[in-house]
Amino acid sequence: MNAEICLKKLGYVGVLNFATVDSSGAPQIRNISAIHFEADALYFFTARGKEFCKQLLRDGRVQISGYTMYKESIRLSGRAVPVPDDEQEKWINTIFSEQPYLENVYPRDTRKIGIVFCIRGFSIEYFNLGVNPIFRETYEVGGVNAEKKGYEITDACIGCGKCARVCPQNAVEKVNPKPFRIIQEHCLHCGNCYENCHVKAVVRRG
Ligand code: SF4
Ligand code: SF4
Repeated sequence: MNAEICLKKLGYVGVLNFATVDSSGAPQIRNISAIHFEADALYFFTARGKEFCKQLLRDGRVQISGYTMYKESIRLSGRAVPVPDDEQEKWINTIFSEQPYLENVYPRDTRKIGIVFCIRGFSIEYFNLGVNPIFRETYEVGGVNAEKKGYEITDACIGCGKCARVCPQNAVEKVNPKPFRIIQEHCLHCGNCYENCHVKAVVRRG
């Protein structure tokens, strides 16, 4: 798995959830399918009058999620910027040619109310719940550093083994020289090890 394959999978899902934050700090989410995918970027169309557009122009941060039929959750976090004015028409026409239904939504030249944004720097969290143990990985594209999430075991560990016994995914293993470690790619981030460590050797990452 890698970022490029994740983008392809999001393309197969087709309709994706786009989340932004409004001016009051409230979450706002909507479904978008007017998207063009490249190997390391995505372009999407909206209309300049929409709140979505205003939120993107004000802040730019956007989170996009899709869920495949194979129980793969793919979440992309990045910053959207409008493509340059002299490229808008090209990208609008590209997206309309790939999504013919848009001609019904914005017939004739009404597509000119549209604006295309691009996301080039982003991180992707891939989370596959359809395999045993579960599998997760994070990919960084365009110089973005993804925030670390989940838990890790510190040197305060006394090796009692309780975290390993309560882990629903057997994602805690015994290793030397440290007694135990979390196998990050199989961790659910459920926090059961954190709550059950009596010496507070399990800490949140990031
Ligand atoms: S519960 Fe805490 S002390 Fe016991 S093995 Fe796990 S991390 Fe170490
Ligand atoms: S957070 Fe949950 S899944 Fe991850 S190691 Fe701890 S108990 Fe296991």
